[in-house]
Amino acid sequence: MLSKEAIAVQQALIQEGLETPMIQRSVNPSQQQHDTQEIIMQLMHTLGLDLRDDSLKGTPARIAKMFTHEIFAGLNYANFPSITTVDNKMNVDDVINVSQIQVTSTCEHHFITIDGFAQVAYIPKHKILGLSKINRIVQFFAQRPQIQERLTQQIKIAIQTLTDSADVAVRIRATHFCVKARGVMDTSSMTTTLALGGQFKENKSLRAEFVHSTEQV
Ligand SMILES: [Zn+2]
Repeated sequence: MLSKEAIAVQQALIQEGLETPMIQRSVNPSQQQHDTQEIIMQLMHTLGLDLRDDSLKGTPARIAKMFTHEIFAGLNYANFPSITTVDNKMNVDDVINVSQIQVTSTCEHHFITIDGFAQVAYIPKHKILGLSKINRIVQFFAQRPQIQERLTQQIKIAIQTLTDSADVAVRIRATHFCVKARGVMDTSSMTTTLALGGQFKENKSLRAEFVHSTEQV
């Protein structure tokens, strides 16, 4: 059973054309884990590794568990965080800004780590999100094969959907290990992506304040 928040976010992403390309089907995590284990075993064998070795024999099971329950857990909406909102009785109409949110994701082109920080800001209307929920939403979408641009947009749409406020801004600054550890082997470059909605897009000073915020992301 998916929560109503998970369903609403999924529908909003599909509508915006921002859902991760995935096959619509019901997910059976234990079957998925079992099948993944078999495939990793074959992959390791193809690479010429001896799976009878003490140190290697548990690797297919470990990778299968890690894919299903950790680094790709966000492909399954059953893992969407439970969301608590409170009514905005105190009429907060200023920016709520959460920065230095740790982001660890996986590049969908190379299945290798993306590592960085996110900053999320929104202006509440009728609902206020529990603060740790913002971190959990970031983590949920980071736990998918991703491109940084889509990850940034998905977080924006999710927070817009859950808060009923269009005024949401998301910024991610990250290192891609597919750039660092292979290919051009650039160890220092960082990629910054932005997704701005509502007033953050329209109001130049609000946008500038968010983008140039002195808080490091
Ligand atoms: Zn990559």
